[in-house]
Amino acid sequence: MTAAIVTETLELAKDLIARRSVTPHDAGCQALIGARLAAAGFTCENLRYGEVSNLWARRGRVPPLLCFAGHTDVVPPGPLDQWQSDPFLPTIRDGRLYGRGAADMKSSIASFVTATEAFARERPGHSGSIAFLITSDEEGPSVDGTARVVERLKQRGESMDYCIVGEPSSVEALGDSIKNGRRGSLSGRLTVRGIQGHIAYPHLGRNPIHLIAPTLAELVATRWDEGDEHFPPTSWQVSNIHGGTGATNIIPGSIEIDFNFRFCAKSSEQSLKQRLEDILRKHGLDYGIQWILSGRPFVTRSGELVEVVRRAVFEHTGRTPELSTAGGTSDARFIAQICSQIVELGPVNATIHKLNENIELAALEQLPGIYLDVLRALLP
Ligand SMILES: [Zn+2]
Repeated sequence: MTAAIVTETLELAKDLIARRSVTPHDAGCQALIGARLAAAGFTCENLRYGEVSNLWARRGRVPPLLCFAGHTDVVPPGPLDQWQSDPFLPTIRDGRLYGRGAADMKSSIASFVTATEAFARERPGHSGSIAFLITSDEEGPSVDGTARVVERLKQRGESMDYCIVGEPSSVEALGDSIKNGRRGSLSGRLTVRGIQGHIAYPHLGRNPIHLIAPTLAELVATRWDEGDEHFPPTSWQVSNIHGGTGATNIIPGSIEIDFNFRFCAKSSEQSLKQRLEDILRKHGLDYGIQWILSGRPFVTRSGELVEVVRRAVFEHTGRTPELSTAGGTSDARFIAQICSQIVELGPVNATIHKLNENIELAALEQLPGIYLDVLRALLP
């Protein structure tokens, strides 16, 4: 790892943080990344859908294809007066780089770029191909970003062999944890209908709150599956209940319940829908449900990519990363449709989406070297 790459990575991370790319805006980040990649021999395509900017860049035409994926958008900074320094003025303090996106995930993107530039200089005739899939819609609805680019790649018959997503996967120190999969997410809005009436004449009404109570108890107690070696058991959680008119003398006519499954590969969208509705029917409820599937579970089992990433992390940090599928969804769920081996590896996530988001400079110095070693190992 040369000193030059360390400096270049810090400078690029700062340039990216200084661009106010609050989701879905890209604020010129992708133009900057694209220009660097074009100079390193990439063919760049800007794919714009609605307000969302996407960059697909590729160097080489032959397999295997290793893709670096990530996002340039950031979440809003929140109250500015509670930041110790301006979130869009990258600032170094106490051995850390502060700014919105420092950890999620502009430092990873800067490291992808400088590692790739170094690799293209060092091995201009490398085997295989390298790609970048960068979106400005990961922190928002995630509709016009990676999902749309993957659709387009599918139509063109393009697929990937390996993908590294730069999401902040680490927990306490860089590389202590990498994600080799994610749970699925299935949400529902349940409406249970009763009969509205005066609370003093309950025989004339039908109270949906009373009707749902034993059903909810059963749903909460249900063991949906046992999980497996990669995933914890599927969980079911209620996020909102709305019932009642505000008046204290009315039996409500209906209630609404929002719930979510975080599910593992032992269950499927269909099996969970079926089992939940079986319980509702058993309790004789008059109900309707609107379902939204936002991601299916996927997992990259131990194999070439996981091993190469683990070795590279160990070389640079002395840590052996633990494999994890915990946390929320990420764009990896879309990429999984066209790529069989995906690993998420990035900085510590302790300050992401928070005030005073930051990355340790020591980690920023190690990250490009790790990505560079992955390139060297997979595209000799
Ligand atoms: Zn992120």
